[in-house]
Amino acid sequence: MTASTHSVWMHIGAGSFHRAHQAWYLHRLREQGDSEWHIALSNIRDDAVPLLTSLTAQKGEYVLETVTPEGDRAYEKIRSIRTIVPWDAELKAMVAQGADAATRVIAFTVTESGYYLDNNHQLDAQHPDIQADVKGEARTLYGALTRVLLARMAAHGNPVTLLNCDNLRHNGERFRQGFLTFLSLRKEEALCAWVRDQTTSPNTMVDRITPRPTADIAPRVLKATGFRDSAPVMAESFIQWVIEDDFAAGRPALEHVGVEMVKSVLPWEEAKIRILNASHSCIAWAGTLVGQLCIHQSTQTPEIKEMAWEYVTQDVIPSLLPSPLNLEEYRDVVLARFANPWIRDTNQRVAADGLSKIPGFITPTLMERYASGETPRATAVLPALFFLFLQRWHVDALPYAYQDGALNAPELHALLSQDDALARFASDETLFGPLAHKAEFATLLQNTVAGLSEWAKLPQPVNDLGADY
Ligand code: NAD
Repeated sequence: MTASTHSVWMHIGAGSFHRAHQAWYLHRLREQGDSEWHIALSNIRDDAVPLLTSLTAQKGEYVLETVTPEGDRAYEKIRSIRTIVPWDAELKAMVAQGADAATRVIAFTVTESGYYLDNNHQLDAQHPDIQADVKGEARTLYGALTRVLLARMAAHGNPVTLLNCDNLRHNGERFRQGFLTFLSLRKEEALCAWVRDQTTSPNTMVDRITPRPTADIAPRVLKATGFRDSAPVMAESFIQWVIEDDFAAGRPALEHVGVEMVKSVLPWEEAKIRILNASHSCIAWAGTLVGQLCIHQSTQTPEIKEMAWEYVTQDVIPSLLPSPLNLEEYRDVVLARFANPWIRDTNQRVAADGLSKIPGFITPTLMERYASGETPRATAVLPALFFLFLQRWHVDALPYAYQDGALNAPELHALLSQDDALARFASDETLFGPLAHKAEFATLLQNTVAGLSEWAKLPQPVNDLGADY
């Protein structure tokens, strides 16, 4: 199944998100009559083999179901994936495809943890997967790309763009730094120099909520389209992609299908992290405290929506101005997306990793508001909610398991057992940076927690969750 004259966008990581996002954009371009580019889909791990097998049987085609916050569903057969790269343990087919001169972009979605970066964004050289790849295996993106690019360098050496499409701040830069560190650990000096000269890694900002596909999609797809799809995918109707326009070997005309091609993604990235990601956490922590399990329920709870709205309006928007985005509109669209009852995202998923989210998503706004002479009352609500959430976790009173990559459970339990737990929380430098030493911030947090404690004791509302939850 290979097209004849073409440019190839090889994608590594055959997850749902790629098929709902990048593949949709390239499909729309082909639908407009621009069929120069197609996708060759590959995966490093063997977990995508069933999907790749289904897609091969369907000639790479599948249906994307999208749903609006109002519940309107739309169906589109996606036809941009024209080559399915068969999986083999040595990744030989991926190497051949990546080294092919027709391949001019190598993009990837391998999840946030697929970059093996520590809290300081440095490569975690001690991780067993990285150590195995340094010895020549290809368990990670770095080991796989090393094989692909060594073959490419040997075959013709044509330039190629390495495009990170994962949800990571400065995703192009962070990947590139991790990859170059990996290559130096592997003593691949020639490849290291070649990567520096012949590849680029633009930063990108990707957005479309894509839940893991559930069994109810295929019957709806069959009813709506008549196509018996064994690999359908479902996502919200909203979609966004912002890319720094720095491609090493040409690119599809993505701007014709709504992709924002920009010089720097930073303003979009900052808006997304502070408005979308931080509000999402706020809603998940608050919703959990009043006994709710789903994001849409919590966003539809007026007091909770107001907490997120006030946080964005009072503190984030003034911190981000001037901005090329319409931030009020972005806030309202984000909150409408979270209220979408058809997506059924869980508070558990979104509440996770709070210990990294406070410094990454929230502390910058606290610091900037203080620096401009303001008291960030609306932002203090977020760490206050998280503190109350941690107290519930401490007494084993959460309705689900709390997952946090930065969690040192004995240490955190010890902190939460102290009478002055909140003062210690407020003075934690990892969470709050220089604010950890600011008495005014400790007082603000004490007062905010006190103000929320009664609210968080509200009688638990009835959940409207189905059997899946
Ligand atoms: P998924 O579970 O459907 O797919 C994950 C893919 O990553 C699989 O192909 C798996 O084999 C691969 N993978 C996992 N760990 C890996 C590793 N260490 N090394 C190499 N490959 C690895 O997930 P998804 O919904 O497609 O999401 C994937 C990523 O896309 C997210 O982690 C995020 O960065 C980004 N994203 C997802 C969404 C969403 O709503 N799903 C939205 C925006 C961005």
